[in-house]
Amino acid sequence: MSKLVLNPGKERSLLRRHPWVFAGSVARLEGRARPGDTVEVVADDGRPLGRAAWSPESQIRARMWTFAPDTSIDHAFFKRRVAESVARRATHPLLANESGVRLIHGESDGLPGVIADRFGDVVVVQLTSAGAEKWRDAIVAGLVQATGCKAVYERSDSDVRKLEGLGPQTGCVFGELPQDALTIVENGVRMEVDVVAGHKTGFYLDQRDNRRLTGLLADGRSVLNCFCYTGGFSLQALAGGATSVLSIDSSGPALDVARRNVALNPQLDAGRAEWMEADVFAALRALKAEGRTFDLIVLDPPKFAPSAAHADRAARAYKDINLFGFRLLNPGGILMTYSCSGGIGLELFQKIVAGAASDAGVDARILHRLSAAADHPIGLAVPEGEYLKGLAVQIG
Ligand code: SAH
Repeated sequence: MSKLVLNPGKERSLLRRHPWVFAGSVARLEGRARPGDTVEVVADDGRPLGRAAWSPESQIRARMWTFAPDTSIDHAFFKRRVAESVARRATHPLLANESGVRLIHGESDGLPGVIADRFGDVVVVQLTSAGAEKWRDAIVAGLVQATGCKAVYERSDSDVRKLEGLGPQTGCVFGELPQDALTIVENGVRMEVDVVAGHKTGFYLDQRDNRRLTGLLADGRSVLNCFCYTGGFSLQALAGGATSVLSIDSSGPALDVARRNVALNPQLDAGRAEWMEADVFAALRALKAEGRTFDLIVLDPPKFAPSAAHADRAARAYKDINLFGFRLLNPGGILMTYSCSGGIGLELFQKIVAGAASDAGVDARILHRLSAAADHPIGLAVPEGEYLKGLAVQIG
């Protein structure tokens, strides 16, 4: 096995179990390695630090599979890691009755570059690093064995693969997708999941608990759901007794699924739902100009800041939508506002929201700090990543 020797002092973050080796930390590679090959990582003084996947094209030159220098990185290793990840979800009481669950959350489950979501009998897998790519067969076999699923569908079409020199790859890698549209039941509401053409793996499972809270808060309120995708928050609001729900997204196909989702749930009053295909930034201004107001507003935008380098521009975008959110709220209204930008931490996000409230001239307090559901854990030593943060803020 080739040896990846670090510069002096650069072992420190690995000793804290941070799983990435950046280009600037690498002194030299002793021996030859192809993308995805396993390398032995050693400190400047030769001290062994663990084993990692080699990613020569990426600024993240290596991702740690293990911090135990003697662990073999082989088929059995992936089978074990996948089984452990699946078992963690299976024994979590909040996830016990869910048909849509994230089974593997990358670094946080010790599998950098691997995402796997289960939707009923189908598992969707996304591989985003050279190491994950190399071990595709072992990972898929592990998922099949640990879940007993009927099909595994690959959605490795994320842009981040380009940073690893990898092209897109999609399609069934085990079994066959069912003929009929795939559905899950989330908090009592049936939702269609388009694993082939939907965003990411097909559905944003991380917001499950926050969607439930929206349902609980929605009773008797008029609701505005911005960046609604297939209507997850909208349907929970309807189920929770909202008097009206206006939902906005720029994606026509997502709104088509959203309308089908209402039809899948005859217990809901479709007459209370209004769907709008529009750019949220423009739509918020138009709603303000029309004098519309709401009792509960959800803002769940795509990530505006993929990394810290984009934080400034992203902060302005967050400020803008939150400002208009506050301006459109009735007295006593609640804003549920989120960011999934790796480049914006909770502290900065709270500052932006506080600035927006102050500019809107409202008196606001935090009701709840919101995070991702239990199947989206964050590794303690993983400072970066698109983890979800949010605030439920009530105005006076
Ligand atoms: N809240 C959703 C997930 C939102 S994902 C859920 O619970 O499932 C972000 C959504 O924002 C996507 O559906 C995308 O189509 C939409 N989007 C991105 N930019 C937008 C814009 N400027 N205006 C309106 N929608 C936008």
